[in-house]
Amino acid sequence: MSASIQAIRGMHDVLPEESPRWQWVERVFREVSERFGYEEIRPPLVEAAQLYVRSIGESTDIVGKEMYVFTDRAGEELALRPELTAGVVRAVVQHGLLARRSLWRLWYYGAAFRYERPQKGRYRQFHQYGVECIGSPYPESDAEVILLAVAVLRELGIADYRLQLNTLGSPAVRQRYRTALVAYLESVREKLSPESQLRLERNPLRILDSKDERDQALLRSAPLLIEYLDAESREHFEALCRMLQQQGVPFELNPHLVRGLDYYTHTVFEFVSSRLGAQNAFGGGGRYDGLVESFGGPPTPAVGFSFGVERLLLLLPERTPDGAVEIYVARAEVEPEVALSLLEELRRAGYRAVGDLQRRSLKAQLREADRLGARLAIILGRTEWQQRRLVLRDLRNGQQWECPVQELGEHVRRILQR
Ligand code: AMP
Repeated sequence: MSASIQAIRGMHDVLPEESPRWQWVERVFREVSERFGYEEIRPPLVEAAQLYVRSIGESTDIVGKEMYVFTDRAGEELALRPELTAGVVRAVVQHGLLARRSLWRLWYYGAAFRYERPQKGRYRQFHQYGVECIGSPYPESDAEVILLAVAVLRELGIADYRLQLNTLGSPAVRQRYRTALVAYLESVREKLSPESQLRLERNPLRILDSKDERDQALLRSAPLLIEYLDAESREHFEALCRMLQQQGVPFELNPHLVRGLDYYTHTVFEFVSSRLGAQNAFGGGGRYDGLVESFGGPPTPAVGFSFGVERLLLLLPERTPDGAVEIYVARAEVEPEVALSLLEELRRAGYRAVGDLQRRSLKAQLREADRLGARLAIILGRTEWQQRRLVLRDLRNGQQWECPVQELGEHVRRILQR
């Protein structure tokens, strides 16, 4: 026998018993996005590798270490998308959307790929849901996307989280701060962790969110970006904080929050939960005012966020609404055609209904109905059917009764409370 082929490490099947939870969160993403007037966009899974090098940044972990890059048969260097913002912005520019409208509210959902060491909450294929609000420089647009994210969490019943907020200021502010930070870190270079010493050349801002205790201690005396902010950046950030307070959205300031992508300017934020262990961030976003222009579009401010769907699923409450079968049609010595017709009628009326396809005993059929989590069984018995009557069984309490066929609708509505 040949060796069996397994799924790729870090890439997971969603098995039928897990899919109701996925479908539920996907439904919530769509509904909440629509409630806020966001439209769906679906960029491809594969893009030119350069797209990510130029936007996320060559010296970031995502591009430098984690991206799946390959050459296609024509010799082009392609990448599996490590996130979706770059593709969305590329699409907006390529199709000239901003010439048609100066503001776009977009949402997306789909797989992303990063070659990371798999662990709880960290995979090589994972899913992101996110939104991009493209065209407004004002803090009310930052507030809108954060309120949307909070609405998704509320709808999903996730309450145990913290929202962390910071500002990186304008690119000029960031540049000045970077110089000051590097000067300080150079003075303590020997005491930094080896990882941070490497980052000092490539991506010094990332040292700020190092988890290493030695780094943490040294960072306590590091200059803070907030001290370098210009008036405009400060006003933007303060206005956003005020708006969130007004709307009753709790947040905490984290001056060390920088996020791992180069394209951010001004606002950055992250949703974290202590229930997730080491990978405690389950969503993040920020403003990226220079990205559209850097892809060849008109200068256009924008802000967005994304949630990691697998991490959201880890935070979901135990019981979630599911799409389980509602009605099981069991058959005892009645033609299969009768069951097919009844099932068709129920499904046309909008019920989730299944019947037996293995011609098993009535007992086995009812066991199957239980296993499927059905609420109601309709039993087609020979003598009853001859009188056009049906046997109904409430599967929650085992109560059983009969009714004439024409009254079925009422009984089903009552049991399923529709
Ligand atoms: P990032 O673009 O790195 O901020 O990622 C946005 C969100 O995607 C994170 O907050 C995570 O929830 C999720 N995420 C990122 N990388 C992974 C991964 N390797 N596995 C699972 N989720 C991830």
